[in-house]
Amino acid sequence: MINVPKGTKDVLPNQSYKWQFVENTAREVARVFNLSEIRTPVLEYTELFKRGVGETTDVVNKEMYTFEDKGGRSVTLKPEGTAGAARLFIENGLASSPMPVKTYYITPAFRYERPQAGRLREFHQFGIEIFGSKAYETDAEVIFAASSFLNKLGVKSRLEINSIGCKTCRAEYNRALKNYFAPHLNDMCASCRSRYDKNPLRMLDCKEDCCKKFTKDAPAITDYLCEECAGHFDGVKKLLSEQDLKYTVNPRIVRGLDYYSKTVFEFVTDAIGAQGTVCGGGRYDGLIEELGGAPMPAIGFAAGIERLLILMENTDAPFPDEDKPLIYIAGLDEKSRAAAFGAVTQLRLKGVRAELDHMSRSVKAQFKYADKLGVKYVAAIGENELSSGEVNIKNMKDGTQEKVKLENIYAYLTAKEKI
Ligand code: ATP
Ligand code: MG
Repeated sequence: MINVPKGTKDVLPNQSYKWQFVENTAREVARVFNLSEIRTPVLEYTELFKRGVGETTDVVNKEMYTFEDKGGRSVTLKPEGTAGAARLFIENGLASSPMPVKTYYITPAFRYERPQAGRLREFHQFGIEIFGSKAYETDAEVIFAASSFLNKLGVKSRLEINSIGCKTCRAEYNRALKNYFAPHLNDMCASCRSRYDKNPLRMLDCKEDCCKKFTKDAPAITDYLCEECAGHFDGVKKLLSEQDLKYTVNPRIVRGLDYYSKTVFEFVTDAIGAQGTVCGGGRYDGLIEELGGAPMPAIGFAAGIERLLILMENTDAPFPDEDKPLIYIAGLDEKSRAAAFGAVTQLRLKGVRAELDHMSRSVKAQFKYADKLGVKYVAAIGENELSSGEVNIKNMKDGTQEKVKLENIYAYLTAKEKI
């Protein structure tokens, strides 16, 4: 038997309604925040992620699915959505459209990681990216979009925010970090020793225990922000507070990806072990220029759908009811089965989720099957019904029955149900 590849998962027919609920919720949030969908390829040239995600990140260093295609080009399965969105923005000249350009995506992403609960090799993200605004209002809007998405799903999490400043304030902060870490460097992991030279800020994001004991007392970036960055961060915090969105400032959040600046944030839970971050985002004012576009501020977030689904399974009323057929129409013999086929087809053409027999079952077995499907109404067509042109429609929930003309089944259902 051939299995699904390690770290990937199937979505089964009786589970997909949960995914659809999350995706529909994402689209509804995107609609009210006035975001338009973008779709980018699953494959990009490897260079995009090396430059766009950053060579000092775990994603680029250890986690990418990179291979040569038959033409000898190095391509990579997208490990996240932002770099592709930025490429799309530059390549399609969206810089000349009215600003800001507000986008969202729902995409699979691939990272070669050690699979655990909430950590897969193929996972899915709902993300938004807003290009062209440097206003702190946009940061607050993006945080609100994430928060509103999580609330609609019934997922409880806490919001942690930070500012990692701009090039100016970070230069000074990096010096302070280096001074602080220098005496401990020999006791820290190899990655951190190399981050020390290339990007000391990333040392704060290290998950190794030997490093965590030093990072917890490291200087806080919030003490080093320049006037502009401090003002921007104050603006974000003010808007969040005014709208009663609770947050804590966590100066250890730097985000795993290199392109962030100013505001960064995470929505965190304690429910999935080390996989507690369900949504992460921030401002990345340097990315578009890094990828060859004209300087362009931008901000976004990405939420991991698998992690959300795990959290939703653990709440009391996580999902709306599974979508079930509204009506099942049984046929007794060949002629009445054809009539059932006709009735069901006409209902379907009018938008009713309807079902009939595919397995040559007896009428009794058909009723049993209809019950298993969880349909609300059942009708059976036999010789009598064919000659009278009327069927008995039984409401399985309350046991009531009514005689209805074959051609009036749709009208009968729409009078009773929202279709
Ligand atoms: P982590 O610290 O858990 O590795 P990350 O910082 O690498 O997360 P991001 O790159 O910010 O994650 O991706 C955004 C979101 O995508 C995460 O908050 C998480 O919900 C989800 N995510 C990231 N990697 C995985 C994965 N391997 N499997 C499932 N979901 C993931
Ligand atoms: Mg990661």
